[in-house]
This record gives sequence, C-alpha cells and structure tokens, in this order.
Amino acid sequence: MTIPTPPKILQPEMIGIACPDCRDGQLTARPNRIGKVFYACDQYPACKFASWKRPIALRCKQCGYPLHHEASILNFEFFKCSRHDCDDWIAKDDAHEDPNRK
Ligand SMILES: [Zn+2]
Ligand SMILES: [Zn+2]
Repeated sequence: MTIPTPPKILQPEMIGIACPDCRDGQLTARPNRIGKVFYACDQYPACKFASWKRPIALRCKQCGYPLHHEASILNFEFFKCSRHDCDDWIAKDDAHEDPNRK
C-alpha cells in the first residue's frame, strides 16, 4: 500500500520588482488554480495588481509601470506596459534599465 504524495505547494516567487500600484508590495510569480503562472502583488487581496506576462526592471515612460517582454519579430524585441489601460510600448534598443536598480 502506498501513501499518495501530497501535491507540491508552489510558493510565490519574488521577482525583485516593486509593485507599481501600491508601492508597498513586491511582485511575485505564482500559479493559478490550473497551474498557469501569473504575476501578482504580494499584498493581494489588498492590492489587485496582476499580469500574465513577467514584468521586468524597465519602466513605462508614460505611467511608470514595469514593462514586460511582448514579442520578438526578427531581430527586434518589443516591451509593452503592464498597465491594463496603458498601451505604450518600446523597442528593446530604446529601452534602458531603471537606473535606481542594480
Ligand atoms: Zn501592490
Ligand atoms: Zn504605461
């Protein structure tokens, strides 16, 4: 008789990006109920920030939210703003790391 192993609990993983919404939280990678990873604030449910794409340490020039990698077309890579109501995007060549981050 074998004892079934309990399902592995995946801990939210800090990705080292401060939450742009509440500014107190840190963004974490965590799986949803079906195991798909999304990125959300560790202050949830107080803070509702969430994104399907992994935010990176580059900020939107329009609103200051972190960008995420959106697409690669031939040799061009594009980053897009992770804010739902902002559709700003930038080509990788024009992107610069946040100088406050090392
Ligand atoms: Zn937050
Ligand atoms: Zn933006």
